[in-house]
Amino acid sequence: MAAWSDRFMPDEYVASVFDVDLDRLRRDGRKLLLCDLDNTLVPWNDPDVPSRLQHWLAAAHARGFTVCILSNNRGPRVQAFSAKSGVPYIAPARKPRSAAFRQAMARFGAQPAETVMIGDQLFTDIQGGKRCGLYTVLVLPLHPREWWGTRLLRAAERWLLRRLVKRGLQTPQATGGNPT
Ligand SMILES: [Mg+2]
Repeated sequence: MAAWSDRFMPDEYVASVFDVDLDRLRRDGRKLLLCDLDNTLVPWNDPDVPSRLQHWLAAAHARGFTVCILSNNRGPRVQAFSAKSGVPYIAPARKPRSAAFRQAMARFGAQPAETVMIGDQLFTDIQGGKRCGLYTVLVLPLHPREWWGTRLLRAAERWLLRRLVKRGLQTPQATGGNPT
């Protein structure tokens, strides 16, 4: 039976972006990867592009994926990361609102069924992606350091996660997936 919490239920829950099965997503017809930035690709407000992440981006591009950052962080921080990494972005994206998701799909010519949202937050990344009919992947946050607004939401999120686990969500083991 459907439950209110279903709108937060990710299709997958993995330890980090490095655990995402890119080949399988490609076989399933996905071609656009929308990625949250803070605590998904890099620790919060970290300006560096770790070499492991560069390799991951190259692996995604080699498989024919377009990668785009969808961040609720301020434009200049995201722009700086985008300039360093070469990954296009939309910010501030105001997730979970649909506008930025739709804007990204229009920009890269992808349908919802061809698009994946990868992020570390249920209320923004997963809820927003699901609203637009995307395939959603939840990752463990990279680092405990966060924006104060995010920290407030985390308590509610922990409660929601326990509920989702009761409804069958498998919690991944942390694999030391720090992108350094
Ligand atoms: Mg995040």
